[in-house]
Amino acid sequence: MSAQLLDGAALARTLHGEFGQRVAVLAARGIRPGLAVVQAGDDPASQVYVRHKLRACAALGLRSELRQLAADAAPRALFDAIAALNADPGIHGILVQLPLPPQFDTALVQEAIRADKDVDGFRLSNLGGLVAGRASFPPCTPAGVMRLLEAAHIPIRGRDAVVVGRSNIVGKPMALLLLGEGATVTICHSQTRALAEHTRRADILVVAAGKPGLIDAAMVRPGAAVIDVGIHRRADGSLAGDVDFASVRAVAGHLTPVPGGVGPMTIAMLLANTLSAAEGSADAPLPSSRESLTHA
Ligand code: NAP
Repeated sequence: MSAQLLDGAALARTLHGEFGQRVAVLAARGIRPGLAVVQAGDDPASQVYVRHKLRACAALGLRSELRQLAADAAPRALFDAIAALNADPGIHGILVQLPLPPQFDTALVQEAIRADKDVDGFRLSNLGGLVAGRASFPPCTPAGVMRLLEAAHIPIRGRDAVVVGRSNIVGKPMALLLLGEGATVTICHSQTRALAEHTRRADILVVAAGKPGLIDAAMVRPGAAVIDVGIHRRADGSLAGDVDFASVRAVAGHLTPVPGGVGPMTIAMLLANTLSAAEGSADAPLPSSRESLTHA
């Protein structure tokens, strides 16, 4: 058996087409959605991600803005930049590119973003909303995974889902979204004993551990849907994920490639959240009128 590949790049292109209609509706109301990216330092991977995000905005006709701070910038400078963007009516979404240099308290920085501009969805209020099943902005990577599963008609309700990784930006929100759709969810992490015993039970296996090749074929249930969130640059410059693609492809039912799987969907969901923020700014913000978690 060879797994069916889940083509995130193609799905993202389809979604971008739909977003174009929303941009046109906003334009007719005199609104051009705006996204600001704040970056501190010159981490090479972050620079690539930021470039992709800004490029996606430009392709859709969104206003985008990069606030670049030096790696040794004082925390005050970052808070001032966020305060200015919070007050800018032409900016509907703000994201701070992670990781931040060590002098910054990431959680405090995220809290400084206005709730209705928190398009990455990392503020505590948004994560709390996620727990309660009504986040205003579903975190982009897990939301992108849900859209990939939905587009491939992979059943979730009643299925065993295993998430490897418990970060606040991927693993935990991923588990909550799967739980919300009726999966029986197990979260694994670095302290999990006998990881393979858990992963082998999964109908849906989402891997976000940041460890290249962590999951091989022996750890995958035949026919499972395997979603590889990891991104690693090999010495030769090519990209790889947390899943050993060649061996797992022979066992899984569905598999995301790296690149071209989860990455483009993350950017698509960022655009979706930015459009939602702009739409919310047009009228009185009505979180309940925004689209549901899996339909960002
Ligand atoms: P992170 O904050 O470093 O979290 C990694 C998680 O994996 C932690 O919970 C850690 O456990 C767990 N882990 C580490 N080694 C493990 C092992 N051997 N067995 C089981 N669990 C293990 O990373 P992240 O921000 O969630 O990102 C994860 C990966 O996804 C990275 O490669 C990142 O580059 C990638 N990523 C991709 C996208 C995209 O758009 N495709 C977006 C975001 C992130 P502990 O909590 O116990 O330490």
